[in-house]
Amino acid sequence: MIQAQKGTKDILPEEILNWQKMEKTAYEIFSKANFKEIRTPIFEATELFARGVGDSTDIVNKEMYTFEKSERSLTLRPENTAGVVRAYIEHGFSRLPQPVKLWYKGPMFRYERPQAGRQRQFHQVGVEMFGCAEASADAEVINLAVKYLNALGLNDLDIEINSLGCPECRKNYRDAIKDVLKPYLKDLCEDCNFRYEKNPLRILDCKVESCKKIFEKEEIQKVILGDFICPECKEHFKKVKEYLRALNIPFKENKLLVRGLDYYNRTVFEIKSNNLGSQNAVCGGGRYDSLVETLGGPQTPAVGWAMGMERLNSLTEKAQEQRLDVFVISENNEETFKIIEELRNAGFSAEFDYACRKFKKQLDKAAKTAKYAIILMDDEIKTNTVTIKNLDTSEQVNVLRESYLDKIKI
Ligand code: ATP
Ligand code: MG
Repeated sequence: MIQAQKGTKDILPEEILNWQKMEKTAYEIFSKANFKEIRTPIFEATELFARGVGDSTDIVNKEMYTFEKSERSLTLRPENTAGVVRAYIEHGFSRLPQPVKLWYKGPMFRYERPQAGRQRQFHQVGVEMFGCAEASADAEVINLAVKYLNALGLNDLDIEINSLGCPECRKNYRDAIKDVLKPYLKDLCEDCNFRYEKNPLRILDCKVESCKKIFEKEEIQKVILGDFICPECKEHFKKVKEYLRALNIPFKENKLLVRGLDYYNRTVFEIKSNNLGSQNAVCGGGRYDSLVETLGGPQTPAVGWAMGMERLNSLTEKAQEQRLDVFVISENNEETFKIIEELRNAGFSAEFDYACRKFKKQLDKAAKTAKYAIILMDDEIKTNTVTIKNLDTSEQVNVLRESYLDKIKI
């Protein structure tokens, strides 16, 4: 038997209401802030991610689904920021009035070890805001993330923020990190040794326990907690924090927060939900002022975030399946089709027994699935009436065929 691939899942009809709710809520919350939806292709040139996500990241090094077609190297998108940036450049969005505010949702692909909250095909919803370097843009996107989570019923959130500074101030920080970690290189994991050469800041993102222990050493903590940020970046970060306070968004500063992608500068943030187990990060994002340029566009500041929808789904209350409005009981499919059309055109959900089984069987089915039964047996057809039965109260009335629609009170 062919089964779904490891790390992939069918989203079954019984779960779909939750997914529709996540999508609808995204549309509602983001539209109110004038963010427009964009849908980019599922696969892109591999080079887009190598350059756009960064070739020192786990995503690019270990997690991409890459294949060749007509001598082109293509990759299933592991995230959507690079694709949205490509589209922004390709369609000349820099010529539009700025900021350009976009949101997306859809499947992403990463070759990871599947576990709870971690799949190989998973879904993200995210926002990207281009063309505004102000701290108010950072606060706006963080606010949207919080409003979205709140609208889904998630209120117990840990919001962590940090500033990585600009490339200049980051250089001092990076050098200091390299100096202080040098004596410990042999004790750090293989990945950390690789990062030491490629992108030393990301060492702080290591999840290996023995590495985390090393970071606790006093001299390393001193560097981590040190003050490397230039006055402009400091001022920017200060404003982000002031705006968040004005918005009543509680946050914690975490100097260890560096995020897994190479393109971030200045503000980075993560939102955790307290309802989850070990994979409790639901949202990650930050500012990426050089990415548009890196991918061949004009210098354009940008800030955004992505959320994992599977993790959101596991945290939110399950939406209840709605009962059908009407089940039509009849032994005459021609007549039934007419009624069904009238009902559906009038906005009711309506179903019938395609096989015209016995009255009792149809009534049982109606009682299990619907709020009302409309009975249209021989008697009713002869008298040009229908019988409406309220399936909760068992009350029933016989009404004229022309006026039955008004009698159904949903
Ligand atoms: P993690 O540290 O959990 O691997 P990440 O830093 O790789 O997360 P991002 O690339 O920032 O994650 O993606 C944003 C969000 O997407 C995460 O916070 C998480 O909710 C979700 N996510 C990432 N990878 C997966 C996955 N393999 N399966 C399900 N959700 C995921
Ligand atoms: Mg990851």
